[in-house]
Amino acid sequence: MRLILLGPPGAGKGTQAQHLVAKYGLVQLSTGDMLRAAVKAATPLGRQVEHIMASGALCPDDVVVAIVEDRIERPDARKGFILDGFPRTVAQAEALDRMLSKHGLELEAVIELRVNEAALLRRIESRIAEMTAQGRQLRADDNPEVLHRRLAAYREQTAPLITYYRRHGLLRSVDGMQTVEEVAAQIRRALDEKTDRATGAKAPNRQIGKKSAPLRKRRQPKAERKKRKTLRTSAARKPKSSAKQAKRRR
Ligand code: AMP
Repeated sequence: MRLILLGPPGAGKGTQAQHLVAKYGLVQLSTGDMLRAAVKAATPLGRQVEHIMASGALCPDDVVVAIVEDRIERPDARKGFILDGFPRTVAQAEALDRMLSKHGLELEAVIELRVNEAALLRRIESRIAEMTAQGRQLRADDNPEVLHRRLAAYREQTAPLITYYRRHGLLRSVDGMQTVEEVAAQIRRALDEKTDRATGAKAPNRQIGKKSAPLRKRRQPKAERKKRKTLRTSAARKPKSSAKQAKRRR
């Protein structure tokens, strides 16, 4: 199984990826973790991206695509993987499509974690304050100012992927504002539905975690019903066509 977890920073992608690793035995491929490891090891790549990451901006597409391609070719990724934090731009998504088809692989699903941005900001800011108070080490990009920039980058460059994957029929959206366990359960349901759909067992419900709209046809508002009735009546009273009138005159 090959999955993508999509969502803004702090939405819980890493935590949910770990649940999926435990349940399905997949590997988690986090581009953020890979880039941070390169920065820590002070490799040429690390030195190239260090200041970009600290600023909250996105690293160049070609750099990130190259590290993902290298990673998915390793033996532990053969059984399947979860992409966490990649793709983040449409260009990366297109590169991923090419990369997967080159290796004869397909994506199973893209799970979008939907979150309320204001609530997310409050959540992350209080976590940062808590960690600072406890004297714990923060990430270089873990401060309110950079966080705003990371959220803006998500909105502008990554959110278009929602439409991209919806068009490809791969998108499954879950409500990411619930507890970790509830979100994990929704993701499992979304994946099970996907499997059921593949075997023709069940119709899909793409908005997981929210009640689906009632199936019965909604009654139209009174004004609308009246307008339609008037139109029907006047159509019934429509004068006979000019051809018929001419015939009658003859
Ligand atoms: P993350 O831990 O996924 O939030 O990523 C931390 C930082 O790494 C981001 O703010 C970017 O600077 C960089 N990064 C991670 N993944 C990508 C990606 N797919 N494309 C560009 N930059 C990325």
